[in-house]
Amino acid sequence: METFDYVIIGSGSAGSVLANRLSEDAATSVCVLEAGPRDWHPYIHLPAGFIKTFHMKSINWAYQQEPGPWTGGRSIYAPRGKTLGGSSSINGHIYNRGQRQDFDTWAQMGNRGWGYPDVLPYFKRLECRVGECDETYRGRDGSLTITTMDWQDPLCEAFMAGAVSLGIPKNRDYNGAIQEGVSYCQRTIQNGLRMSAAKAFLHPARKRPNVHVRTHAHVTNIVFEGKRAVGVRYIKGGRGGVPVEVRASREVILSGGTYNSPQLLQLSGVGSPELLKSLGIEVRHALPGVGEGLQDHYAPRSVARVKNIKTINELRRGLSLWVEALKWATTRRGLLSLSPTMVYCFWHSGETTESSDLQLTFTPASYKEGVQGQLEDEPGMTVASWQQRPESRGYVRARSADPFAPPIIQTNYLVAELDRRVVVAGMKLARRLLASAPLAPYYAYEDFPGPNVQSDDEFLAAATQRGTTTFHPGCTCRMGPADASWAVVDDELRVHGLSGLRVVDASVMPRMISANLNASTLMIADKASDMIRGKAGLEAVKIAGYA
Ligand SMILES: Cc1cc2nc3c(=O)[nH]c(=O)nc-3n(C[C@H](O)[C@H](O)[C@H](O)COP(=O)(O)OP(=O)(O)OC[C@H]3O[C@@H](n4cnc5c(N)ncnc54)[C@H](O)[C@@H]3O)c2cc1C
Repeated sequence: METFDYVIIGSGSAGSVLANRLSEDAATSVCVLEAGPRDWHPYIHLPAGFIKTFHMKSINWAYQQEPGPWTGGRSIYAPRGKTLGGSSSINGHIYNRGQRQDFDTWAQMGNRGWGYPDVLPYFKRLECRVGECDETYRGRDGSLTITTMDWQDPLCEAFMAGAVSLGIPKNRDYNGAIQEGVSYCQRTIQNGLRMSAAKAFLHPARKRPNVHVRTHAHVTNIVFEGKRAVGVRYIKGGRGGVPVEVRASREVILSGGTYNSPQLLQLSGVGSPELLKSLGIEVRHALPGVGEGLQDHYAPRSVARVKNIKTINELRRGLSLWVEALKWATTRRGLLSLSPTMVYCFWHSGETTESSDLQLTFTPASYKEGVQGQLEDEPGMTVASWQQRPESRGYVRARSADPFAPPIIQTNYLVAELDRRVVVAGMKLARRLLASAPLAPYYAYEDFPGPNVQSDDEFLAAATQRGTTTFHPGCTCRMGPADASWAVVDDELRVHGLSGLRVVDASVMPRMISANLNASTLMIADKASDMIRGKAGLEAVKIAGYA
């Protein structure tokens, strides 16, 4: 049987960074097991290919969530990357770290070394920020290229002017000193091509002889000797394929993502004893927090019809599309280099809210009702609005002992009363933004939620009918102290009560952050890599306001 120092399950955002950092030492062998195929498909690399990979089952787990109490009986689609780079290979390329308060909250929850000054040096080490920036907050020498949206669109400009007219300032860098304000998005795109975690970290590492990446390797369970994880079993080629076992002499690292990591722990006998027994899985280690605590951002998308200008809806058709294809081929710019959202706006739901609790995105395009990712024929513009730090929590549970069965995903969107209030406030702000004076030359009428929606109850009803995920699930293997009943890993990401096993991915976030999750997942993995290697952590950045 083959033995490696480290076996990493999943080559997504976290797994890619880990593979790179852990293999820097040539004497260390690293095996990465990925259920999906290589990331060869051209739609992965073409930014606008997002719309295609969104439903492409060959590279997407394409999960369905359970209907929730506040989703109007709907089961919301939950795409997840299943290829090298994981979700970073199919995501919307937006680079957004979150607010300093997010990480300070993690530290306050009992996680030493995860406050903002501690995590900032890792964000900086990862990135290569292109363009003007304050180097207290931004890195220049990392492998992950971050560029700003280069599509200067009159509708986007008018939207930003509209935000300013409502008192929301422009912010040159929402990943800098403060997040609040409005600006074009920052993206993980370089020369008109996606910069996935695989491209930035895994592929360079694969050139090293000590890195062994296996695709089509679906891990079915972690192998234990007593309380120590010593290896994993996987099926080569998926269901019906060849069973293989590999050993880890140092550690098994689970980086399967927010849905799959808790499922795999449960399949391996780690989790709530009641759940495991009900599934006929032998309890290896009781850890009730596994899978519990799921959080995500829930976004209704407000739509206005547009006049006097072309939107992306028309540009992606007929001759215009050919022109755009030619533009991309010759300049790497234009429609095909776009992300699904173009402008970001961070603001607060009420005057007394200390920092922004709303995130809004603007796109000069609109999508077919009920079919995410498919553009409509009629010209439209969309503002998605969501609460940054929801309180509602759900769960991920193995559906059965079958490792190929999709897990049960119940996010419980809007179950907390605060979440309902803030989501309504977000929709009201979206309406004001779309109807602002600078957008008036282009604004025809509000299509959704529509002029009949006026009261808070009506806004809430609209939110429950049409809200969707923003694809930011986290918090199902939460980091916290051993005496916290919800905690799954400690602040070095070691699974409580077991040895030789860490979880390193978006699932370890103890609380949802004010951001899309790719940047912070990369940061978590980079910081974890120093812990795993026994290296001293990077020195905390000195910032005003921190002792
Ligand atoms: C459609 C979409 C749009 C998004 N847009 C953005 C955005 O614009 N900006 C942003 O910051 N974030 C965005 N996100 C979220 C972000 O990409 C993810 O939060 C982040 O990539 C999660 O990283 P991870 O390492 O936790 O998991 P993943 O990157 O999902 O990696 C998990 C990996 O593990 C593999 N795996 C799982 N189970 C097994 C198994 N049993 N055996 C072997 N391999 C396994 C998976 O195939 C996958 O490759 C988006 C996500 C999606 C899906």
